[in-house]
Amino acid sequence: MRFDGDFHLHTKASDGHDSVRELAQEACRMDMRAIAVSDHSFSSLFCHQTEEKFRAQREEIDGVEGVKIYQGIEANIVDDEGTIDVPDGIIAKADVLTVGFHRFVALMFKPCSRKFLLVNGFLSERERQKLKEFNTRIFLKTLERYPVDIVAHLGHRCPVDYARVAEECAKRDVYVELNEKHILDANGFADNIGAMIDAGAKFVVGSDAHRKDRLGKFEKVGKFLTEHNVPLDRVYGVDGNMPAFKDKSGWKNEL
Ligand SMILES: [Zn+2]
Ligand SMILES: [Zn+2]
Repeated sequence: MRFDGDFHLHTKASDGHDSVRELAQEACRMDMRAIAVSDHSFSSLFCHQTEEKFRAQREEIDGVEGVKIYQGIEANIVDDEGTIDVPDGIIAKADVLTVGFHRFVALMFKPCSRKFLLVNGFLSERERQKLKEFNTRIFLKTLERYPVDIVAHLGHRCPVDYARVAEECAKRDVYVELNEKHILDANGFADNIGAMIDAGAKFVVGSDAHRKDRLGKFEKVGKFLTEHNVPLDRVYGVDGNMPAFKDKSGWKNEL
C-alpha cells in the first residue's frame, strides 16, 4: 500500500508552519501525485483563512510545478442548521470543500448553537454521546446545503450516527476522511467502519499535517486499513487511486 495523495494539509495561511511551496517540495520529494491544502476557515478563533490570503494562496499554487495541488478550505459547521463559515465567493473558488466540527469557533452564538458547539466542544464524552442524533441531523443539513467534497475527522469530539452520515455522503459524492491525527480518537469510528463501507462510503486520506515532515505520513491510517480489511478501491490517495472534486464555480447559497 502506497500513499501517494494527501488531501488535508495546513499552511501558514492558518495554523500550519510551512508555505505552499515548501509543502509542494516535500510532496515532490516523496513522489506524491496530488495534495490539497485546507486551511481553517473564517470563524476559527486563532489563525484562519481570509479572502486576501486565499487569493494570494491561489497565486502561490499557480506558481508551483511538479505536483498537483488542490486549493481547499476546512470549514467549520457553526450552527444547528448546518451552516458553514465560508463566504459564497470562496466556496465557488475552492477546489475542495472540506467540512468538520471544531472547537474554538468564534461566532455570535444563537441559542441552540451553544448546545452543538459547547457540549461537543467542551463537555464530557458522556454528555456528548447524548447529542448523537442531534449532531447527525446537523451534518445531514450541511451535506444538503453545500457542495461538500470531504467530511473531515467524522466523529471526532462530535458523536454521530456514522452509517447514516456515510450513506448520505455516498449519495452526494462526498468522501469520508481517514484522518491520520484523529482516526483513533474519533469514538466509534473503527467500530462503524464496516457499516460505513456497507453504506457505500468512499474514503480519502488526509494527514492533517501542520508541518511538512508529517505530510504523506499515514502510519495509523495504514494500520487501520489493514486491520479492518477496508477495500482499497474505496480509498482515495492510495496506490494511484485519486479523488475527483466537485465543480463549484458559480455556486451560490440559495437560502
Ligand atoms: Zn480539523
Ligand atoms: Zn485540519
